[in-house]
Amino acid sequence: MFIRFSWVLIFLGTLLSSVPAQMAVTDLPEFDLNAATLKGQLHYWASDYMRGRDTGSPELDVAAEYLAAHLKAYGYEYAPGMDSYFQPVQLKETAPPQEASLTLNKNKYVHKEDFLLLSGKANRYKNKKAVFAGHGWVDTENGYDDYANLDVKGKIVFVLGGPPEDKSPQAIFQAMSQKRQLASERGALGLIEIYNLPNLPWNFFLRYFSRASMQLDLSQGMNSEDELIYGWMQPDTESSVIKEMQEGKRTKASLISSGFSETAISSKNVIGVLPGTDPELKDEYLLLSAHYDHVGVGAAGSNATLPQDSIFNGARDNGLGSIALLNAAQALGEMPTKRSIIVIWVTGEEKGLLGSRYYVERPLIPLHQTIFNLNTDGGGYNSTEHISIIGYGRTGTDDKIETAATAAGLKVFPNPAPEQNLFDRSDNVSFAVKGIPCMNVSPGVTAFDDEINKYYHQVTDNPESIDYDYMLRYVQSYAYLARLIANDMERPAWIDGDKYYDAGVKLYSKE
Ligand SMILES: [Zn+2]
Repeated sequence: MFIRFSWVLIFLGTLLSSVPAQMAVTDLPEFDLNAATLKGQLHYWASDYMRGRDTGSPELDVAAEYLAAHLKAYGYEYAPGMDSYFQPVQLKETAPPQEASLTLNKNKYVHKEDFLLLSGKANRYKNKKAVFAGHGWVDTENGYDDYANLDVKGKIVFVLGGPPEDKSPQAIFQAMSQKRQLASERGALGLIEIYNLPNLPWNFFLRYFSRASMQLDLSQGMNSEDELIYGWMQPDTESSVIKEMQEGKRTKASLISSGFSETAISSKNVIGVLPGTDPELKDEYLLLSAHYDHVGVGAAGSNATLPQDSIFNGARDNGLGSIALLNAAQALGEMPTKRSIIVIWVTGEEKGLLGSRYYVERPLIPLHQTIFNLNTDGGGYNSTEHISIIGYGRTGTDDKIETAATAAGLKVFPNPAPEQNLFDRSDNVSFAVKGIPCMNVSPGVTAFDDEINKYYHQVTDNPESIDYDYMLRYVQSYAYLARLIANDMERPAWIDGDKYYDAGVKLYSKE
């Protein structure tokens, strides 16, 4: 009985694996979805009851259950080795010390005004030797070593901000953890970078880094457990103490911190797998993703609240994408593709792409078997004629994008608002850095204008203001695009010269 039954399934699978010649595109299940269903789903999803789906909130877990219940109904399997649709994601929230102080000779610096601590355990270092160590940088390949002939053991080290060559804020932020490590390995008690970023106001830096922040528990980022006390200071123009220290004059420093507090937060990615129908191609996976978290309630969430409303419902960001993915999952479940499909709703996007970064570090299906990531995320739309593609022209999928958009009655808007660097700001970038070709599909945005800013991370981003006939066409084009990519014999690939081309070559050479 079992054997016969599975033969029937294989026969059915083969029958359904491609669109028969007489079948019109509009007969595909994605073109059978309807606006009223989307409207109902999004009104629940972005209701006040969900309280803005903040990462770590019970409401986000309710949202996860909602997705899982649908995956069950649509016939999705658990990912290999899992006994549910949930991949636990361990996070930690780190808050800066209540009390901290820095003194250089007789000069006192006030925490969160003149200096800011970013990591390190509670400690009270009084009257320690202070030393200046250039940029606190070592590059053995190029024979560069700021610590050569310098003993920093048991001392507090002061360095110029960032690496020696690159003054871009990005390079400076990226260098932080390496600089901490270099100082720590050499036995320093503290490391203070001296602020020297002309393009970035000190106040902005202070505000950005003095908030409580959420990180992956496995992250190599700031760690409150580090012994080394690490921070930044803005040099005072009146005093010459820094200059004297740079010249090698004897300088004493005191550095006191009450320590960072850390709270463990549990969250989850929601993951389902739909096996492909082609015996050869089913070992290859198309990964569809959307972040399902948003920023919660109250001023801490994001922008200003209103007297009558403090809930960031996130109907657009990313309720629209979450529900789009849900409906794509349904349509693909009704008529599976040749390749297998992984659907993932990731958590913690708003806290720094945490869920997608976690997934690529702990993938449930080997990344080299994942041929593409089609992410749907957006801050809103200002055109109901378009679907916007962030990453257009980069992976050899443009003809499919055009086909999918046209079938749903939409036009393609390629790479909107380039100044916003959107490609590297959504979950697709977590996959890109590992080499997986990807793009982010967004509802029609042609520029970051007033119509976008009216809703983007605002309490006004409510489900009542969505155009559901447009949303239906958006969902159809997204789902159909997924189908086209998953069924095509040819795989997408980074075009030669792309920023992520080398990562792609490296990843897929594992096969
Ligand atoms: Zn957002």
